[in-house]
Amino acid sequence: MKIDRVEIFDIEFAKRPVWHPVFVRVHTDTGLHGVGEAGLAYGFGHSAAASMIREIAEAMVIGFDPFRTELLWKRMLRESFWGLGGGPVIYAAMSAIDTALWDIKGKALGVPVHQLLGGRVNESLRTYASQLQFDWGPEFRILIDAEDYGRAAERAIAEGYDCVKVDPVMYDGEGTRQFDRTKIFSNKEMRLYRARMKSIRDAVGPDVDIIFEVHSYPGVTTAVQLGEIVEEFRCLYFEEPVAYLNSALHAKVADKVDAPIAGGERLYTRWGLRPYLEDQSVDVIQPDIGLCGGLTEAKKMCDYADIYDVRVQAHVCGGPVATMAALHLETALPNFLIHEHHTYATKDWNRELCIPDPQPVNGLFEAPDTPGLGIELNDEVVMRSPRMEVTGDG
Ligand code: MG
Repeated sequence: MKIDRVEIFDIEFAKRPVWHPVFVRVHTDTGLHGVGEAGLAYGFGHSAAASMIREIAEAMVIGFDPFRTELLWKRMLRESFWGLGGGPVIYAAMSAIDTALWDIKGKALGVPVHQLLGGRVNESLRTYASQLQFDWGPEFRILIDAEDYGRAAERAIAEGYDCVKVDPVMYDGEGTRQFDRTKIFSNKEMRLYRARMKSIRDAVGPDVDIIFEVHSYPGVTTAVQLGEIVEEFRCLYFEEPVAYLNSALHAKVADKVDAPIAGGERLYTRWGLRPYLEDQSVDVIQPDIGLCGGLTEAKKMCDYADIYDVRVQAHVCGGPVATMAALHLETALPNFLIHEHHTYATKDWNRELCIPDPQPVNGLFEAPDTPGLGIELNDEVVMRSPRMEVTGDG
């Protein structure tokens, strides 16, 4: 079997202009194809990832045997030049291509991808409702008032979730997004964040788990300040308390805050993860399969984490292909903790991108059982967006 064509979709939406899932569809000379996704749907970089996929496809994917994922991974790492340094663009592209090849392997063998990763460890996957500060429901909405946080949590619980995640610091009291949260918080600011958390805790009761997320924006001092609130509300974990630019900062937060620490969505490969495992400053890793190096690398990172008793929640903030890739990986993980369902994953503009539309039932996903990843691009929708195609004809 040989790869003979690669399509790259850089998705655009009128309804949500800042959201750009990047998909790759890899075709073979047998007629089988596979899909993958780059993890740069948000932030900057989607078009760079799409272009990087095109370059890699031209240089080394066309004509390649899709079963040889390990060899291709090594070649992308070394022959791209940039793979040996790291960063989101090269790794997003490598991840998308790698994931598509696993889809092809599963389809060719007639088995779900998790079967190739070790088989079913988990029959069903506990799932949480993620990013309540954007509300929980059909419309995207920025929440400011503390009472609205409790109401959003109530809506998630009504759908059967028993765990929610929120960034109660993302917006200030006027609704302005706070990208710099490194300056010491005033008592007034701390009261607002605490009120939002109290509203959620009061709405859901003592037995629902709450994940406290801050997107790496605080500095170490403000992260420790927020740690008081994390402790007070007995949060399941404290996610991305500080940035990854200096790995020693995570250790300080872990030392000062009495709560499990999570992170990893901006870390690439085993090498990127290494300092956080060696100094035992994270308790939960959150690799994004569309960023960390694809399924080939994600499985290795999770096994590596297991020797430090570190649990896994794949980071999922993308299109439905990202959801399916995470479900297959997590199904096969002994150290799986919980699955993330982002509020974006519930929006119609995201759901219509693929067939079928993976959604949890009562806060649970069942282990997938369709060959490959079990998901296809919805051509009726994705063909409206910019598309590139690479063939052997140049
Ligand atoms: Mg996060």
